[in-house]
Amino acid sequence: MDADCLTDDPVRRDTVEVDVTVLCDAVAVFPEPIAEALPGWSPEQQAWTESEAPGNVAPDGGWLLHFHSYLVTSDRHAVLVDTGIGPAGGEAALWLGTTGRLPRLLESAGVGPAEIDTVVLTHVHLDHAGWNTDGDHPRFANAEYVVQQAELAHAQDSATYRNLIEPIAAAGQLRAVEGRTAVAGLTLLPTPGHTPGHQSVLTDRAVLAGDVLVHPAQARWPELVYVYERKPAVATTSRRDLLRLAAETGLPIAAAHPQTALSGQATGVAGTACAGGLLRL
Ligand SMILES: [Zn+2]
Ligand SMILES: [Zn+2]
Repeated sequence: MDADCLTDDPVRRDTVEVDVTVLCDAVAVFPEPIAEALPGWSPEQQAWTESEAPGNVAPDGGWLLHFHSYLVTSDRHAVLVDTGIGPAGGEAALWLGTTGRLPRLLESAGVGPAEIDTVVLTHVHLDHAGWNTDGDHPRFANAEYVVQQAELAHAQDSATYRNLIEPIAAAGQLRAVEGRTAVAGLTLLPTPGHTPGHQSVLTDRAVLAGDVLVHPAQARWPELVYVYERKPAVATTSRRDLLRLAAETGLPIAAAHPQTALSGQATGVAGTACAGGLLRL
């Protein structure tokens, strides 16, 4: 990624003042051993995680993932960033052996599905698009769903695309963007590597980083590669760029799977640990 696109007046140029609410769709243990998911996983990294990010450690020491969507509200917009693992019987729910609770959390946050005007998908993976539809139709009937063009091209032969993107496109609610884009008072930043068209969302309160960091230890060790990253070297560069942006701006990085937001210095940000549901960042 071009470093300039992150450092060029990153916060003020296209962003408005917002509230960010964490909607924790689910918590589940990663189905594979952590040393297979994160090759080279070391005792030092395990000890660091137990001390700095205990909310991502399962009782047996394995990898406990959160599945966070983010509700971003301003006086003009209600934006949902990612839509979680989805309902019982869906692909992600079956994979993880649990079900999502996002509709309930959204209701608790006082926002009805029809009030969401924009859905940003960081990328097209089953655990980030699970509540896109109500089965056949877009769940968020008045929303534009915004995805990078490169991501749509990459994902278009997948079951996730067929099940969770095609109904959005058929309803005329899918918007493809290319590169850094201002949307609903927020800034979308390409952060490729995990997938080719992965994007993050820059707000004035946090960087919503999808799967740039799937595990909190990747903030401390950006070179720690996740086995399902399509381009590990590119993913590592995106991690370093976002960590530098966070360090320079003081904005926390709120990714999808860590329990807490992380600072540019790879420490958990106080007051951001989700404790089962809804949390204002
Ligand atoms: Zn959570
Ligand atoms: Zn994910």
